[in-house]
Amino acid sequence: MDHFLYRDGVLHAEDVPLPEIAASVGTPAYVYSAATLLRHLRLFDEALAPLPHLVCYAVKAAGNVAILKLLGDAGAGMDVVSEGEYRRARAAGIPGERIVFSGVGKTRAEMAHVLRNGIRQINLESEPEMRALSEIAASMGVEVPVTVRVNPDVDAKTHEKISTGLAENKFGIPIARARAVYAEIARLPGLRAVGIDVHIGSQLTDLQPFREAYAKVADLTMALRADGHRIERLDLGGGLGIPYARSNLAPPLPSDYGALVRETVGHLGCEIEIEPGRLIAGNAGILLASVVWRKGGEGRDFLILDAAMNDLVRPAMYGAHHDIVPLHEPAPGAETAPYDVVGPVCETGDTFCKARELPHVPEGGVLAFRSAGAYGATMASEYNARPLVPEVLVQGSDWAVIRPRPSYEEMIGREAIPDWLAAP
Ligand SMILES: *Cc1c(COP(=O)(O)O)cnc(C)c1O
Repeated sequence: MDHFLYRDGVLHAEDVPLPEIAASVGTPAYVYSAATLLRHLRLFDEALAPLPHLVCYAVKAAGNVAILKLLGDAGAGMDVVSEGEYRRARAAGIPGERIVFSGVGKTRAEMAHVLRNGIRQINLESEPEMRALSEIAASMGVEVPVTVRVNPDVDAKTHEKISTGLAENKFGIPIARARAVYAEIARLPGLRAVGIDVHIGSQLTDLQPFREAYAKVADLTMALRADGHRIERLDLGGGLGIPYARSNLAPPLPSDYGALVRETVGHLGCEIEIEPGRLIAGNAGILLASVVWRKGGEGRDFLILDAAMNDLVRPAMYGAHHDIVPLHEPAPGAETAPYDVVGPVCETGDTFCKARELPHVPEGGVLAFRSAGAYGATMASEYNARPLVPEVLVQGSDWAVIRPRPSYEEMIGREAIPDWLAAP
């Protein structure tokens, strides 16, 4: 459920009519609903409620500082994968004790930065990283709580580009090596193992892969405890999928997921951390785009939008589906026609969908891509010198631009012509 609904024939974000935002901010633009973001956070909290837990929102899904502040004020922790994301979370007022640092290629500089500024835990992804962190922490005279991200060799049965739990993937340490790695951590200065971490992929629409992975984590918890390690936290990652098409079978609910967590690891007495991104932000955001031209083609008609793959890359990168709806609700029984919906970028990959049945939308009319809140704005670029897409946050009847569209002067002004090329 989200808060983008038609009222009197006009699509609203909560209490704000979207044509008002489109007219004021221009298109393309992302619009997020605070109520939807908070609702999804609360669903996870309720799903895990009987267990001690912290929901660490995956900043990479939608990392605007206003979104982080909203979620942080509601009690969320954060899962970050770079110093930049860590700085975003801190800029939003989230204390280091609620921030988990994940990521397969943390640099020494990044690890030193979070150690200086406060961190709840670092999820180790490799043995070289483990040794480097030990050196850095020991040289600073601190002991950092760590987990090891284990690779359970489980097929998440999702898109291959966002599957992370197979032995062939670059993530984590093979689960069979875990006992040796924890033994080394116990010997190394500066590190204190506090738990185990696992994250098997994104957009999972079936609970079975989670069940397999968490069962392996439960077994490993017992084995490590028998080896004398204190395992008191389990970081179970993110990955729960969302319904992108209204016609699709619904993916599992956070409550089903919570029941699975309790079943598989609830008896271990551990504090549970989860790192959902997509399920919190995905259906909490839409992308507004205007029709620039309607163009007849060879056996097909094109709707050419002012949004492109640089603004929303998921269709081009993952073949992803987004429902597209007009801001003005079509009359019941209104005619539809099949369109290829495309952007203006000079690449055939800049196609949002083919032969999509859509109602008539005139040139200048505005459409909304639904479920675009996660991995939308954060993956946007300025390809084709299209200024970075702006972001808007709605809460009730309030709305504000939380990332303005840069002017052309600002976009070009970031670049510099070297002296030797400048005219004398
Ligand atoms: C991407 C990622 C997440 C979030 O995944 P979602 O599918 O958005 O829930 C969580 N943890 C880690 C380590 C990730 O890389």
